[in-house]
Amino acid sequence: MSVYSWDEVGKYQNDIARIVKNSYELNRISHAYIFEGPNGTKKTSTAFLYAKSLLCTNSENFNPCNKCHNCRRVDSDTHPNLFYVKPSGKVIKKEQIQSLINEFSKASIEKGPRIYIIEEADKLNATSANSLLKTMEEPGQNIYQVLITESYNSLLKTIISRAETLHFKPIDREIIREHLIGQGISSNIANSISEYTVDMGAAIKFAKDAEMIQIIELVIAISDAFLDKNSSSVLLFKEKGQEILKNLEMTDFFLTLMIFYQKDVLNYGLRHLENICFDEEKGTLKKLSEKMAQKHIEENITNMLGLKGRLKYNINNKLAFDKMLACLERGYKYATYCSSYTV
Ligand SMILES: [Zn+2]
Repeated sequence: MSVYSWDEVGKYQNDIARIVKNSYELNRISHAYIFEGPNGTKKTSTAFLYAKSLLCTNSENFNPCNKCHNCRRVDSDTHPNLFYVKPSGKVIKKEQIQSLINEFSKASIEKGPRIYIIEEADKLNATSANSLLKTMEEPGQNIYQVLITESYNSLLKTIISRAETLHFKPIDREIIREHLIGQGISSNIANSISEYTVDMGAAIKFAKDAEMIQIIELVIAISDAFLDKNSSSVLLFKEKGQEILKNLEMTDFFLTLMIFYQKDVLNYGLRHLENICFDEEKGTLKKLSEKMAQKHIEENITNMLGLKGRLKYNINNKLAFDKMLACLERGYKYATYCSSYTV
């Protein structure tokens, strides 16, 4: 997903946009940046915006026009002065960097700045990194670099000391939620997904993923079935769950949502309505909060969290499914027992 202006960057990464704008105004745009931060924080799209801002022939306040020949070639990955390197496999190969250095030792085909962007720069070895930096610093070179990493502490100290680091923060969940709502996504889906991930790209993908939506619907249906005398939540889960929860990733998503749902019931009972994720389900949440004792909901959450933790240790999906079934059976048995006891 591209970004087209520094104001747009500001919506996601306010500090970064401010620093870059100030640097531009003070004529101190750096030749060497490190973009550091977790996945999904728009480091790569910001690096391409930086390249476009440098190359654009019509830029205003360092914002590219997004229309000129240079801007269009950056967008279509065909600008001869822009080089993008990412690891092939687990490492950035020496040859990849060597060919980049060879490129820079030639006169450029086109006048103007030359920019290289290196993805996962923590995978550079020391020799490659130092040769690159040396190339950059040769007099008369109009070269700019952006090194991107999710693992800042693994970068070589010599690289860190010779570049300016910009720290990208996880994107605010509320921004992701609003973006999804703006795309016409229902609030149950937008809320669950923005709670599940702070990676904007992943969130947009998930919100359109038929299987993920089915899982959100299953979580809602399970609670509805619990309140309906003619249905059984456990049976519903057995039937539908087996169909939908095909792998551990899906199982993890389901469990996470079940936990959100249980927390919603708790929050409803405590009147913390602003924290509710499934906010289209307030009617059901109200009934459940009246029917289930707080300590049993907490116990459900603890059990589900325990199981979610175990998913990381490669238990197989079938076993995870059986454990989840047991978890639900126990959870709803408590609730039924509790409600029949209090009636
Ligand atoms: Zn332009």
